[in-house]
Amino acid sequence: MKRTGTSHIASAWHNIWSRWRSKLDEMLPWGSGRRSLWAALIALVLAVLVTLVWLAGRYETSQVQAELERDTADAVADLRSSLSRHVQALQALQSGHYMPATWQPEAQALLRDNRDWLRLEWRDKNWQLLSFSDSPLRAPAFERIARAEVLNEAAQACQRAKRLNGPAYSSTYFLPQADGLGVEVMELCLPVTQAGEFMGYTVVTYSLQELLTERLGPTFGRRNELSFVEPDGTRLAIAGTQRRERRVFTTQQLVDLPGNTLLLRMDGRRGEPDLFPNVLTALVTGMSIALITVMVLLAKDARRRLKAERDLADALAFRKAMEDSLVTGLRARDLQGHITYVNPAFCQMVGWEAEALIGQNAPMPYWPPEMVDEYQQRQAIRLAGNAPPREGFESVFMRQDGTRFPVLIIEAPLISVRGEQTGWMGAVIDISEQRRIEELSRASQERLQATARLATVGEMASLLSHELNQPLAAISSYANGSLNLLKDPQAEPQTLDDVHMALRRIAEQAERAGRVINSVHDFVRRRDQAREAVAPQALLDAISPLVSLQARKLHVRVHIRVEGRLPLVWCDRTMVEQVLLNLARNGMQAMDLPECRDRVLVLHVKRAASNPESAWVEFAVTDVGAGIAPEIETQLFNPFFTTKVEGMGLGLSLCRTVVEQHGGHLAFEPHAPKGTVFRFTLPAADGNAATGTA
Ligand code: ADP
Repeated sequence: MKRTGTSHIASAWHNIWSRWRSKLDEMLPWGSGRRSLWAALIALVLAVLVTLVWLAGRYETSQVQAELERDTADAVADLRSSLSRHVQALQALQSGHYMPATWQPEAQALLRDNRDWLRLEWRDKNWQLLSFSDSPLRAPAFERIARAEVLNEAAQACQRAKRLNGPAYSSTYFLPQADGLGVEVMELCLPVTQAGEFMGYTVVTYSLQELLTERLGPTFGRRNELSFVEPDGTRLAIAGTQRRERRVFTTQQLVDLPGNTLLLRMDGRRGEPDLFPNVLTALVTGMSIALITVMVLLAKDARRRLKAERDLADALAFRKAMEDSLVTGLRARDLQGHITYVNPAFCQMVGWEAEALIGQNAPMPYWPPEMVDEYQQRQAIRLAGNAPPREGFESVFMRQDGTRFPVLIIEAPLISVRGEQTGWMGAVIDISEQRRIEELSRASQERLQATARLATVGEMASLLSHELNQPLAAISSYANGSLNLLKDPQAEPQTLDDVHMALRRIAEQAERAGRVINSVHDFVRRRDQAREAVAPQALLDAISPLVSLQARKLHVRVHIRVEGRLPLVWCDRTMVEQVLLNLARNGMQAMDLPECRDRVLVLHVKRAASNPESAWVEFAVTDVGAGIAPEIETQLFNPFFTTKVEGMGLGLSLCRTVVEQHGGHLAFEPHAPKGTVFRFTLPAADGNAATGTA
């Protein structure tokens, strides 16, 4: 049973402790290591506080006690002086009266003055009662018990008084009263001498109760309970207040009288000293509360800090995880262009370690050597404070193994917490895959177009053959008939007429065939109606997306130069665009050789002659490729001549047809030091001049 009780208490304590611990854990910023330190600090502060409050309380108690002791000493002194005044009064009484008749009134007066006197007796030297007087203020004390029965104490006191030749007090004794109660009394015996001769005794019976009430009550009884006690603690008489306070301060002091020693006890009913009994304690407690408040505030602050640190660490970990999982490369540069940060995706993209990249400045290791100049210019522009386009720009980077790959770079200023720009942050996306897909779709589209064109050509050819078949068959049969007629040597004039007729039919059929051919020509000529005035720049703008698509694939830089104040050209926009596209594509393909490193294609538009008023505009497409071998120069414009595996050999011949249909001229010449320039001219639209960028 007992065991269960103990373990029950233990588990209750454990519960309380763990509840407190979790509360404290919530409140205080301790890590596992700091917990014991905090606990020790709190325990120390609490110990100091408790000690201070306890000491202050104790000090206060001792003050009260000391005050009470002083009061008791004062009370004893007062009592003594009262008693000695009594002795003097008695001596005065005895000095002038030798006759009981005169003694009586004086004794009565004294008894009236001293409430604590119960009875005054005058006895002769043989201890015979000469006269006596009871206190007029109360019922006679020796009523219930006769005086003769309780003379013992008085007799002893008188013997002592005689011996001492001075006042002597008896020990106290209990004197039952007529009203059923009783009083504790003490006798004072004073020897009476006359002219040096011993004459008898004066005996006073004191009521201890009255003695206390009369002599000490007014002065000390208000705040204390006064009593005469016996050594064993029995109270003989009590006076003073009897307030029921919680705490009683007690002192006792001996009242040493000749023949008797009284024990005066004073109970100071002051009550427990307050928790804040004085300024000192209040001050100490106030300071302690302030200390604890500061500690709690500090702890709260530290807890907030700890939480902020944890949040920050979480945020950092989150950011790190996010960065590591990104497929977009991130690269930060300071205002001088030094790389300050790269994420794992960027490192993976370019094949360099972060350590090898951080701190690098232009030229970066991932820049293709042939692009360094251009990239450096671009970086200079950026560092000069020109913001990059929001949608980003395309560029080519080089892996560590030298392979190039296209990227889309989106850059934004890097702004610090203070709002100052500290550099640039760039997101780099590898778009090789995107390019590959675009290229695939472009190639398949081209193939589709070529097939469609071939189909149209085939259709047209079969239509033509069908249309031309009839007149040609007729011509052939008329011609054969005529020949047969002419072979006959006996040909009659009738026959000659037939031949005439046949020849006329031949001419008719030939005309018809000509009309068929003309109708095809008309069909082609009808495109003339599609002509309009177009700004040269607009033509270039229209083809530039397609051109740059292929240029990126073949790592070619395209430079477009358009002279200022060029006139509009009068042309079939779609056809001319097709011409430009063909020439540009041929030029780029001619540069697609391993030995050709710095691949530049220049599209240049200017007035055809030096005369600024010239009515012709010249377009030139210059490459730095392989050039055209002299042996194939003559065949270049032949339909179906090609040197390429997938070529159709229709491009240049179509180009020439289109240019010539516009009245222009297409030609080519070698470009120094290498490559080829293809030029063609187009007529300016009448009187329409436009700026180069129209
Ligand atoms: P395709 O491009 O389909 O081969 P083209 O008629 O456009 O047909 O070109 C005919 C040939 O002319 C090409 O196969 C190529 O050999 C040659 N050629 C055209 N342009 C150039 C050029 N800029 N540099 C070198 N050769 C060229």
